[in-house]
Amino acid sequence: MIIELQEKKTEEKSHVSSLIDSSVKPNNVIGWKLKFIRLRIKLTLLKVIIQCYRNPIDWIGSLLYLIRFRRRFLGNNKVHKMVYVNGKYHLGLYTPGWNSAIYERFITSQLNDYKPVNKGAINRFNNVFFAITKKCALQCEHCFEWDALNKKEVLTDIEIQDIVKKIQEKGVSQIHLSGGEPMLKVDAIVNLLNNAAKSTEFWLVTSGFKLTDKNAKRLKEAGLKGAVISLDHFIPEKQNNFRHFKDAYYWAEEAVKNANNNNLITALSLCTTKEFISEVNLMAYMDLAKKLKVSFVQFLEPKAVGHYANKDVTLTPEQIGILEKFFNKMNFTSSYSDYPIIIYHGYYQRRQGCLSAGKKGMYIDTDGDMNPCPFCHNKTGNVLDSNFDVNLNTLHYMGCSSYNSPTT
Ligand code: SF4
Repeated sequence: MIIELQEKKTEEKSHVSSLIDSSVKPNNVIGWKLKFIRLRIKLTLLKVIIQCYRNPIDWIGSLLYLIRFRRRFLGNNKVHKMVYVNGKYHLGLYTPGWNSAIYERFITSQLNDYKPVNKGAINRFNNVFFAITKKCALQCEHCFEWDALNKKEVLTDIEIQDIVKKIQEKGVSQIHLSGGEPMLKVDAIVNLLNNAAKSTEFWLVTSGFKLTDKNAKRLKEAGLKGAVISLDHFIPEKQNNFRHFKDAYYWAEEAVKNANNNNLITALSLCTTKEFISEVNLMAYMDLAKKLKVSFVQFLEPKAVGHYANKDVTLTPEQIGILEKFFNKMNFTSSYSDYPIIIYHGYYQRRQGCLSAGKKGMYIDTDGDMNPCPFCHNKTGNVLDSNFDVNLNTLHYMGCSSYNSPTT
């Protein structure tokens, strides 16, 4: 078995090296530069705080609030890296890049939860996931949109734009366009990006299918920030089997290469199944992610929804323990500072609660209906309804059924 794994890794290594463009440089910020950028970010926080409040007591109170807020996610741990792409520094996948107006508005909005601010535009949402199509060529084992997959489309391209406009009017730091496979509507996405207000970072959540060099270029020019590309195994056959699509691995790697070459930020998304979880597999996956030069790796714990409904996919405490230990090692020790940053929602949610479910985020499905998150389907009304605000309040009131949030 070990020999087989090594052979697969050797094959995979040669395949990967042929895909990597040597002109794309690793972009992790570490060491003294990291300290310097952290200092500058702190100065930005102070600037925003002083703009938001007149009373110096609020300056201290709001700073302590931000420190406590961060500690709830990460404790006293420090991430030993950040990512630099296109003149912006990124601490995480779901935090807008510093130094930008979008980042400052994001902080202003967070401060508004501490105490209403005097000045500055406020975002109602940090992150909204929007599934813009039911169509997909793949048949993934864990697909959370399984019940809607390849049914007749409900939303027109104009309605998709109207929904984005309505969410942007409320204020939103990031919109993640998903599906189905959003790349099947690449023309509509380019149109949407060209017409959207520039106050939001737009991301693509994709299997990588059809993310060719030409499409990556078009999306970048239209204003796309980055792509979250699904890759569930470092062995091509296993990825293809999991996604029931013979070219799934090929497209995931192609997409990473084309997105990187066109200066889009790249992240890999891994469904951490019971079968996959082991220290050896996780390390092999991170080695591949590093070689592919992605900035982030996202761990998604499997949920018994969609294609996984009524299946025994929920991780055991021991499996969660392996993931959390690995996450801590890779992110919070300096030995792995040249690896991508891991984003692990389960880790944060178990400590901080859920910030989606109408609080700081939500999921808009392919009918335009609001749901707590992509894995928690519980419609509370349509974004295009005239009583959108009432429906949104209902979503917020109902909250997340899995994780309580102490902040709202
Ligand atoms: S998970 Fe995504 S890529 Fe897979 S079948 Fe569902 S929509 Fe398609």
